[in-house]
Amino acid sequence: MSHLLQSDTQLNRNSYYEASVQRGPALSPLQGHIHADVVVVGAGFAGLSAALDLAASGQRVVVLEADRVCSGASGRNGGQAIVGYASGQEELIRQLGREEAQRMWQLSIDAIDLIDQRIAEHGIACDRRHGYLYVADKPRKVRELRAEVDALTTQYGFACDWYEGQALSGQIASARYLAGAYERQSGHLHPLKYGLGLLQAAQRLGVQVFEHSAVVDLVHGARATVKTANGSVSASHVVLAGNCTLPVFGPRVAPSIAPRIMPVGTYIAATEPLEPALVASIIPSGAAVCDNNFVLDYFRFSADHRMLFGGEVSYTTKTPANLTEFMRRRMVAIFPQLAQARMAYTWGGFVDISMNRAPDFGRLANNVYYLQGFSGHGVALTGLAGRMVAQTIQQQASSFDVFARLQHQRFPGGAWLRTPTLAAGMLYHRLRDLF
Ligand SMILES: Cc1cc2nc3c(=O)[nH]c(=O)nc-3n(C[C@H](O)[C@H](O)[C@H](O)COP(=O)(O)OP(=O)(O)OC[C@H]3O[C@@H](n4cnc5c(N)ncnc54)[C@H](O)[C@@H]3O)c2cc1C
Repeated sequence: MSHLLQSDTQLNRNSYYEASVQRGPALSPLQGHIHADVVVVGAGFAGLSAALDLAASGQRVVVLEADRVCSGASGRNGGQAIVGYASGQEELIRQLGREEAQRMWQLSIDAIDLIDQRIAEHGIACDRRHGYLYVADKPRKVRELRAEVDALTTQYGFACDWYEGQALSGQIASARYLAGAYERQSGHLHPLKYGLGLLQAAQRLGVQVFEHSAVVDLVHGARATVKTANGSVSASHVVLAGNCTLPVFGPRVAPSIAPRIMPVGTYIAATEPLEPALVASIIPSGAAVCDNNFVLDYFRFSADHRMLFGGEVSYTTKTPANLTEFMRRRMVAIFPQLAQARMAYTWGGFVDISMNRAPDFGRLANNVYYLQGFSGHGVALTGLAGRMVAQTIQQQASSFDVFARLQHQRFPGGAWLRTPTLAAGMLYHRLRDLF
C-alpha cells in the first residue's frame, strides 16, 4: 500500500498545475481535541464542495487533509468537466430504470452548472472554458459515437453537432480522427486554481482546514470522532472524501469501502507554450477533446498555450517507464505539427474506478457518508456529490439516495488489486481498440 503512496507523491513532483499557482504556507496540522457539526476527511473537490455548502448553511465545519489541499486527483487532473457518467447511461437504466437514469443525466448537467455558479459567486479565476469535442478514430468507434450521440438526443434532448471527414478538420487539425461530436455544455478549467479558489471560499465562510492531518481512525457514535496523529474532532456527521488514498493514510477508517474502487494510474504531459496561431489552428474552438477508446487520449490547450496531453493508464502502482517520451510520441502521432514541441512537465495520479464505472456514494452509518468511484468523471461530479451530502445532512430532500441505490461489486484481490484476471480483462479491451 505504501507503494501506492510513494508512486502517488512522485507523480505530483513535475506538475504544470503546481508550477502555475502560488500556494501559501501550509495550513497548521490539527493539534488537540475540537468539536464541530461536520468533519470532512479529504480536501479534494468532493470534500471542499461539501464543506462549502455546509458552512453556507451555518454549520461548523472542520476539514482534515492528509497532505496539502487538492494535492490528490483534484489538483492534477485533465481539467475536463464533462456531462454524464463513465458507466454510460445504459448501466444506470439497467439498475435504476429510465426515469431515475434521466434524473441522473440532468444532475450531471447540473454538476457542470454548479462549477460555473461557484466560479461566479466566489470570483475564482481558473481559466474556465466551455466546449467539448468527442472524437473517434476507427469506423467501429465512429458507429459507437454516432449511436451514443443519437441516444442522447432522442432520450435526453441533449444536442451535439456532428462532424465527419472534411468537416471535422475545421474542428481539429489531425488526420487521426474520422468523426467527432461537439457540445457546448462540457468544457475545461485549471483544476488546481479552481480547487484553491474553493478552499478560499470555504475559509471565508468559516470552515477550519488543517493540512498534514491524516485521519487514522474513526470511532462511530451519535457523535463520531475522527483521530489524527496529534488530535481528534468529534462531530455529529462525518463525510469521507479521501478517494484512492483513504485506505493508505487511514487503513482503519473505512476498510469496507476500499475494495469497491481500484486506483488506476493516468498521466498528463504539458508542452512549453506554443505559438498562439499554431494553437488556434489545431483546435480552433478551444474545446477540450477526448476520444472514445477504452484507454483514451484526452487533451486541451491551457490558457498559456500549452498542449496538456493526457492518456496511458497503469493498473499497477508502477509508473510506466520513459513516460515523457511516451506521451510526446503519442501526441505527435496525432499532431505531427507538434513534432518540435518540447515537453516541459509530466505528472499523473490515480483515478478511483468503480467496477461498473458508476459513482459509489453511500453511508457507513446514519451519520457517516462516503463519496468515491467518480471513475474519471470527478471534475464536475465531485461538486454535485459534495452538495448532495450537504443537503442530506441538512435533511433537505436530496438526490443522494438515488446514487446510494446503485449496486457496486468489489474488485477481486482487495483494494489494490489487479489480479491477473482483472489485468487480462483490461488488456482485452485495449487490444480490441488497437485492432
Ligand atoms: C491524472 C488524472 C487526470 C484526470 N482527469 C480528469 C478529467 O479530465 N476529468 C474528470 O472529470 N476527472 C478527471 N480525473 C478524476 C478526478 O480528478 C477525480 O475524480 C476527482 O478529482 C476526485 O476528487 P476527490 O475530492 O474525490 O478526491 P481527491 O482530489 O483525490 O481528494 C482526496 C483527498 O483526501 C485526502 N485524504 C486521503 N485519505 C485521507 C485521510 N485518511 N485523512 C485525511 N485526508 C485524506 C487526500 O490527500 C486527497 O487530498 C483525473 C484524475 C487524474 C489522477
